Amino acid sequence: MRLLVTGGCGFIGSHFIHLALEKDSSIEIINLDKLTYAGRLENVEDLKNNSRYKFVKGDILDHGLMAKLAKEIDIIVHFAAETHVDRSIISAGEFAKTDVLGTQTLLESALAAGHKRFFHISTDEVYGSREKGFFKEEDNLAPNSPYSASKAGAELMVRAYEHTYGLSSTITRSSNNYGPNQHPEKFIPRAITNLIRNKTIPIYGTGKNVRDWTYVRDNCEAILLLLQKNALGTYNIGMMDGKANIEIAKQLLVLTGKNESSLQYVEDRKGHDWRYAIDTKKLKALGWKPQVTLEQGLKATVDWYSANKKWWAPVVIDK
Ligand code: NAD
Repeated sequence: MRLLVTGGCGFIGSHFIHLALEKDSSIEIINLDKLTYAGRLENVEDLKNNSRYKFVKGDILDHGLMAKLAKEIDIIVHFAAETHVDRSIISAGEFAKTDVLGTQTLLESALAAGHKRFFHISTDEVYGSREKGFFKEEDNLAPNSPYSASKAGAELMVRAYEHTYGLSSTITRSSNNYGPNQHPEKFIPRAITNLIRNKTIPIYGTGKNVRDWTYVRDNCEAILLLLQKNALGTYNIGMMDGKANIEIAKQLLVLTGKNESSLQYVEDRKGHDWRYAIDTKKLKALGWKPQVTLEQGLKATVDWYSANKKWWAPVVIDK
């Protein structure tokens, strides 16, 4: 199976490439990445001599390049996106362009190259927020931020290409990921890199917003399983175990030997979604089970950031 992985120098894409090459010897990968502020060649440096791997620097909005690469592979696995909610509140246009138009460019290329299927990485944020219970795959989309609206727009493009042109698709809607190699702009790595530098952790609002944290490798295992099983349709990926942000922050204080004086409550994010919660029974029925508990995953993540200052020092937030 020859894959074009977009955004493979980012956080989840780079973990996916490593996992797929390691676990499935029939897989060959072209990694297409624009290397924005979020893309790091260091994340895939160790693969440069792997004969089943090739890196191409480029933009998913480049029609000519996408059409050419689509002809060299069997399926596009599309991770590339602008991904940070706070940035989307300041600069929504970039999100609409990259996430919606970029996805449409790839769909067009896949169709022209005669692909059977398109594999799209989406997010649980497309459902919006809910007080109680869990969203199922067939529930309506109600995104609230420019980021989640752009991701929902991308999904609707995937749906339209399936309905109109018959291009089958798989869509994954994962909960928040965490683990090594995540840009320090995101909540968990920002907290860890601040604590390591004896700085405070900024906590939005009351800190009670709830997120369901999935260790990045568990998400990648689910994506690989769906790819290998040729599973079509939409799949939620998550732990079904929501935690308030303040609980996560307190666990990180313990893991780094700090106390509550390292917490700093700051003005809430505009339009901050209260709680994300997704039902993952559909995926579990295919045999997926998360392998990493929150306690294990947070410890592994703190250990990685403690040992890899060279990776994050050049891009750390609040230098
Ligand atoms: P990331 O921000 O770490 O990486 C994004 C990658 O895409 C970078 O390598 C960047 O250079 C590349 N990219 C951006 N614009 C591009 C363009 N125009 N052309 C080519 N490459 C481009 O993102 P991530 O956290 O790894 O997320 C990957 C995917 O998973 C995204 O689609 C995101 O919406 C989704 N997702 C992320 C999470 C999470 O918690 N991180 C949760 C659910 C879903």
